Amino acid sequence: MTAAVLHRLLIVLLFVGLVLPARGGLALEQAGAVAGLGGDGVSIGILATRPQAQAQWAPLGEELRAHLGQPVRIVALDSESMELAIRRREVDFILTNPANYLRLAGPFHLSAPLCSLVVSEEGVPLNVFGGVIFTRADSPVRQLSDLDGRKIAVSTLNSLGGYQMQAFELMSAGLKLPDTRHLVLTGMPYDRVVEAVLEGKAEVGFVRTGVLEAMVREGRLAPETMRVLHRQNLPHFPYASSTRLYPEWVFVGMPQVDTDLARQVTAALLALPHDGPTARKIGIWGFTIPMDYEPVREMMRTLRVPPFEQASDCTLADVWQRYRMALIAALVLAALNLGLLVVVWRKQRRLMELNATIRAQGREIESQSTMARQLLGALNEGVYGVGPDGRCTFINPAALRLLGYASEAEVLGKDNHALFHRWRADGTFYPEEQCPIHQTLQDGQARQAEDEWFWRKDGTGLPVSLRVSPVGGDDGIRGAVVAFHDITERKRLLETLRHQATHDELTGLVNRRHLFELAEREHARIRRGQASPAAIIMVDVDHFKRINDTYGHLAGDAILRHLGQFLCAKLRTTDIAARYGGEEFILMLPSTDLDAALRLAARLREEAAASTVYSDGQPLHFTLSLGLTALTAQDPSLDVAIARADEALYRAKMGGRNRIEVDPQYGGV
Ligand code: GH3
Ligand code: MG
Ligand code: MG
Repeated sequence: MTAAVLHRLLIVLLFVGLVLPARGGLALEQAGAVAGLGGDGVSIGILATRPQAQAQWAPLGEELRAHLGQPVRIVALDSESMELAIRRREVDFILTNPANYLRLAGPFHLSAPLCSLVVSEEGVPLNVFGGVIFTRADSPVRQLSDLDGRKIAVSTLNSLGGYQMQAFELMSAGLKLPDTRHLVLTGMPYDRVVEAVLEGKAEVGFVRTGVLEAMVREGRLAPETMRVLHRQNLPHFPYASSTRLYPEWVFVGMPQVDTDLARQVTAALLALPHDGPTARKIGIWGFTIPMDYEPVREMMRTLRVPPFEQASDCTLADVWQRYRMALIAALVLAALNLGLLVVVWRKQRRLMELNATIRAQGREIESQSTMARQLLGALNEGVYGVGPDGRCTFINPAALRLLGYASEAEVLGKDNHALFHRWRADGTFYPEEQCPIHQTLQDGQARQAEDEWFWRKDGTGLPVSLRVSPVGGDDGIRGAVVAFHDITERKRLLETLRHQATHDELTGLVNRRHLFELAEREHARIRRGQASPAAIIMVDVDHFKRINDTYGHLAGDAILRHLGQFLCAKLRTTDIAARYGGEEFILMLPSTDLDAALRLAARLREEAAASTVYSDGQPLHFTLSLGLTALTAQDPSLDVAIARADEALYRAKMGGRNRIEVDPQYGGV
């Protein structure tokens, strides 16, 4: 034996030792037998689930040989061996379960079902079968939902009646498929599943219909030891089933088989007498026209078991054809959704922009309001706001200070008129209707009032000048802002100016110009008959020039100042004393007759003559000359009356001074 021959022999031995044992005992024998068949005669592969299958089906071969006139071999194969035999074209037909057929049909281009098997159960023909889910009778598992987490004995996952039907039933009930970790795979035949449950290796078992009953018949199982779950109500079906029923096994031809042969074989099978000797030997009823295997296909597709474990290889066109309306609806919905999304997105973006703007405006307003607060705080002018009802809405520190309040809280929400504007300067009641602030709130017109009077918290008055500005627009007046300042100083200044304009600085008496104004007013009254004639007394210091010359100008001033006070002190409040010229004075005594005027003049002359004025410690004395007349309705002007008084005065001077002379028209002396 050469090395090359030895090498080849070793390879063959290795192949036989390594590959073939993997096929299992039955498969090894049968596959070998198939390989030996070659192209001689017709070969039929039959799915073997039990070891006796080869012997069981042998009579069918005999029957067919008689019909066809050529050798017919029946080969029992497990599902793997069957696939191998098909691949190697070692079989011409197969008889298998629907799931196996559907699994192999596509890849191997098997024919459509030629006929379907009808089994005989106790002499009853059955062309459908189902799946059984069972437990030991003492198990707590009672319904499908109890299966979760239980150990389940299953022959193989490929088995239609032994696993897939049950799995589909669980799915249809909305339950989970059993977790593979909980599955106890026993392999075929189904008896092993029953044994696993009996031995406690699993709590639940899945077998095809009829298995339990067969074992009971054969005396291998006591009927009361097992309980079938989810038992279907199937009056015409002799076995317990936990699932709906599916068509029995199918007989199909291989693609290489001549159609005439297929027709002849099919015809022979269909012609096999039901329950005849051959059928009875095999233990079947016979064959019938092909059944509808679509429900099986649907179930397998749902379970995604081979060949449906992957996504369908159908084309887009197929999908379009089948789901056109649904797709159109989905597309429309998707478009609508997209549209809505765009709208929502846009709105959201707009909202975000708006938010940003509002935030920016908020910051702007905040900074402006801070600025406004700082501005108001820095102002010396008092500023406060009122609502349409006149109640204070804000007040700045200067206003609080001017009005004598310690905090905003004392003012805010209170009626401004009642709080600090209720009285006029003279203490009389200030009706709110006349208040410029109230009026602005009524008509929306800005106002300025120069001479108002606010009242402090402590009750003292405060002369103010105020500006009222309305707040609001076309939609109505929402309030007003009042700005005011203290005009005490201004008023005092004005008063001083006014006084200076009308009074003589040295003596403090009314000046000549103002005397004329006042006298004319009185003259008018007299002429209107509203008053009696007024007495006019002209007073002149005697030898004043001499006093000046002797004691100095200041001494003269001291006498003039003294006279100012002296004359005022002697007069009624309604009387007027005016400095008419250097050391000349005019007294106007409204509604005064000659006697009264004379009495006053006499007293003045006497007291003046008796008085002593001190200037720089120097005692000074002086006398007065006085001329009297009356301002009457007949006088065309004050000047005329003054001229008469001056004339009387002149006579007094001429008469020796320190004298009184009366205008002869004035009662005459
Ligand atoms: P008679 O008795 O005739 O009135 O003589 P008299 O000196 O008083 O009158 P005269 O008119 O001659 O002089 C008035 C003087 O008064 C002249 C002027 O210098 C003086 N005189 C005028 N105004 C003032 C003044 O404001 N202060 C002082 N000290 N003297 C004044
Ligand atoms: Mg004089
Ligand atoms: Mg004089």
